[in-house]
Amino acid sequence: MYTLAEDSHKSLIDSLKDRGIIDDDDVYETMLQVDRGKYIQEKPYVDTPVYISHGVTISSPHMHALSLKRLMDVLKPGSRAIDVGSGSGYITVCMAIRTKVLENKDSFVIGLERVKDVANFSIENIKRDKPELLHLDNFKIIHKNIYQVSEQEKEELGLFDAIHVGASASELPQILVDLLAENGKLIIPLDEGYTQVLYEITKHNGQIIKDRLFDVCFVTLKKN
Ligand code: SAH
Repeated sequence: MYTLAEDSHKSLIDSLKDRGIIDDDDVYETMLQVDRGKYIQEKPYVDTPVYISHGVTISSPHMHALSLKRLMDVLKPGSRAIDVGSGSGYITVCMAIRTKVLENKDSFVIGLERVKDVANFSIENIKRDKPELLHLDNFKIIHKNIYQVSEQEKEELGLFDAIHVGASASELPQILVDLLAENGKLIIPLDEGYTQVLYEITKHNGQIIKDRLFDVCFVTLKKN
């Protein structure tokens, strides 16, 4: 018998482990360091998405865990990572912890968020949890719609080893394929009929390989 409502961050992460959702020590260690209670006030330690504002939610802890697990091999000290639709900032900060942005100046982590108020909300969350990140040149929260990244901005961003998308797209956006580095990995939910499916997309020798994972439920990746 599992309890779904926990009363502390550690008990939430331990319950994900007990339920077999976290079966990877690196995911466990990373998520343990990012207290969900700093990113959402209401029911932070329950395994459920929670409404933020502007029609967006912080994803459920089990979804964060499953996505992070897929990205662990491309998130290392020195990796370049982008969280598209960064929302609360939870996954962006997990990426920063895992790539050790504080110690490793080659690491580069960006959260890209379409709604200005939500981007500001994530900055407040990070101020509460890990304010030191906000003073770095290699960590940024950017208010921007991914579909509106110009050619020049694309050049400036460079290529990413790890791309996480926290909202579901009608089709794979070309911009994300372009931003993916050789041997990099992109995790993105894509609409399929009435459902959404999480995809793992990798680039090897310039070729794109798409792996269909499992059904999910995310908010929409908005075109404008
Ligand atoms: N991983 C985040 C998910 C937040 S919900 C978390 O757990 O907090 C998805 C986010 O994607 C929303 O904040 C929404 O505003 C943002 N979003 C939607 N379309 C976008 C787009 N085209 N470009 C950037 N962000 C977008």
